Amino acid sequence: MRKIRAFCLICFSFFFLLNGCQQRVAERSEQTILSRFVPYFESIKKIGLQEENAYEFLKKITSVGGRLTGSEQADRAVEISLKIMEESGFDRVWSEPVEVRRWVRGEPEQAMVKSEKFPPQALKIAALGNSVPTPSSGLEAEVVEIQSEEELASAAEKIPGRIVFYNVPLDRTCTDPFSAYRRAARFRVNGASKAANYGAVAVLVRSTTFRIDAHPHTGLMEYQEGLPKIPAAAISTADAEKLHRWLQQDPALKIWIKLNCRDEGKVTSANVIGELTGREKPEEIILIGGHLDSWDLSPGAHDDAAGCAVAIEALRLIKEAGLKPGRTIRAVLFMDEEFGGTGGRAYAASVNRNREKHLVAIEQDRGGGAPVGLAFTLEKLIEKIRPLESYLRPLGINWIVKGGGGVDVSPLRESGAVLGSLMPEVQKYFDYHHSALDVPEVVHPRELELQAVILAIVVFYLAETGV
Ligand SMILES: [Zn+2]
Repeated sequence: MRKIRAFCLICFSFFFLLNGCQQRVAERSEQTILSRFVPYFESIKKIGLQEENAYEFLKKITSVGGRLTGSEQADRAVEISLKIMEESGFDRVWSEPVEVRRWVRGEPEQAMVKSEKFPPQALKIAALGNSVPTPSSGLEAEVVEIQSEEELASAAEKIPGRIVFYNVPLDRTCTDPFSAYRRAARFRVNGASKAANYGAVAVLVRSTTFRIDAHPHTGLMEYQEGLPKIPAAAISTADAEKLHRWLQQDPALKIWIKLNCRDEGKVTSANVIGELTGREKPEEIILIGGHLDSWDLSPGAHDDAAGCAVAIEALRLIKEAGLKPGRTIRAVLFMDEEFGGTGGRAYAASVNRNREKHLVAIEQDRGGGAPVGLAFTLEKLIEKIRPLESYLRPLGINWIVKGGGGVDVSPLRESGAVLGSLMPEVQKYFDYHHSALDVPEVVHPRELELQAVILAIVVFYLAETGV
């Protein structure tokens, strides 16, 4: 027994000794990595924080206004972005064609509540992207308010000939605004066809924001094949609350709505690409992407001029610091994230990718807020970044976790790319998202620049060391 105990004691001691050794080796390798790279990181940080240039790029991109896929403004944004990249002195700058849909909002929407119990009341609405219009004289009907999917089925008998009003707020108890958004946004995306299946003539969908204000938040909706296509519009949260109260006063009230949108078919647009070509392995690529298109109600500053601006600025910082990366670092401004993701798919499928290998593809599409974390889809890559954690912490990075990616870069995963994202603070993001409030003034230049600095550091490190 004593022998066994002694043996266990030796094993334990050996285990702790080994563990201690491993820890010291890890610390030493972290120190070695940091001492090699910190001088480069310092140059990048110094230039970035002094100049705050990402915001200048954001202002130029947003200067054309809303950049709805297929619009003239989107075309102008392509030209402006090419010019910014050329002026920044990137090694290669070019565009690649993308076939996109051209949907036009037309004249601003109108909506009026009509009741025998109170005077007419105007409502703030905006057609959802891809919606069909109402007849040119508008459409008038009684309303059925729905607050859950189950309620839709149980209200089946009341729905024929009426407008379905989806009044489903974002779940305030959900700490991750993106999860709350995703749950509520399904009524926006699929609600029209679900209501049309029961005979509804149109849908009004409560805007997907925590705030109660007068701004409708638009977004893409989709029609299910085989069901009637009915007009679909977002209603502001303030008016959704009012409509809820008016319906309690007068359940027989009617709403007249007029949507003037139209589908103009397919047109050719473009992805914009710029790179710092790798000095040793130019065919191996580390990509940072954002999407150049936006909704039309605002210049889409957070969504996603911010992502485009930091992608360009990250490359500029590396170049400005006099660094020539070992592998290619590329900024890609994708077209059409909002209206179907054709830009991301066209980029991945292009014959130009044949001789390329994308090691990492980082997507920035969560707004220009202060950075808080990093996420990558591969554990091994997270461990590779780990030695930078202590350097990145003062810049805002509190955690590095599994996750990341997005609509535009996800097609690259099939060919083996690790996806990633720099995660910003997002509690306010949906206040602005897809509404008239997403203007440059709501993005803070220093928060945006911190994103660019961190991205420049991370992608330069990966371009030097590989995956
Ligand atoms: Zn976006």
